[in-house]
Amino acid sequence: MSKILIIEDEEAIAELEKDYLELSEFEVTIENDGTAGLSKALKEDFDLIVLDIMLPGTDGFEICREVRQIKKIPIIMVSAKKEDIDKIRGLGLGADDYMTKPFSPSELVARVKAHLASYKRLVGDDESRNQWIEIRGLKIDKTARRVFVDGIEKDFTTKEFDLLTFLAEHPNHVYSKEELFKAIWQMDSVGDIATVTVHIKKIREKIEADSAHPQYIETVWGAGYRFKV
Ligand code: CA
Repeated sequence: MSKILIIEDEEAIAELEKDYLELSEFEVTIENDGTAGLSKALKEDFDLIVLDIMLPGTDGFEICREVRQIKKIPIIMVSAKKEDIDKIRGLGLGADDYMTKPFSPSELVARVKAHLASYKRLVGDDESRNQWIEIRGLKIDKTARRVFVDGIEKDFTTKEFDLLTFLAEHPNHVYSKEELFKAIWQMDSVGDIATVTVHIKKIREKIEADSAHPQYIETVWGAGYRFKV
């Protein structure tokens, strides 16, 4: 579900935009203050911003400038003043679209959809290049999160996949069970390291021809595990 941020101080307008966008299955967040809106836009991941110009705190021009420095997401600027549109163009802020208030909410929804579609086409070009790790007969498609052994796909749980990928990305490095547990489960626990052993066993059953003589994940006695290349 695409996430939209509306930065708009007129609450009735913001709510109306939100209602229409939610009807089209968008997840909408509203900020009424410019400075709070800017910080939210920079900190959180949104797919598109609907940005008013005259705002308390930081104005829309400045917000657009700052967001554009680090994010490529579409920005639709809205203003009650026609002159603002010329100013947006003149300043070269990198806004993707501008609308003059009052506009129909369905027109806004149509433009949001159009900008999201073209943005996703652009971003999709990068994402379509899947990242692969290939070692002997083992192929890990990191992008699609799929694992193939000698051309045959194996089913992996999320954690099994994360653990295998982590080890394969750090070949020949010996990791203790504690280190692996911390890396994959992101918890500072010592009690659950048996989980690592269980997962390694399951991974071996899927990728090794002979689990007793593993060719990929090697046990280093007293130290941990190492991915052999
Ligand atoms: Ca305003």
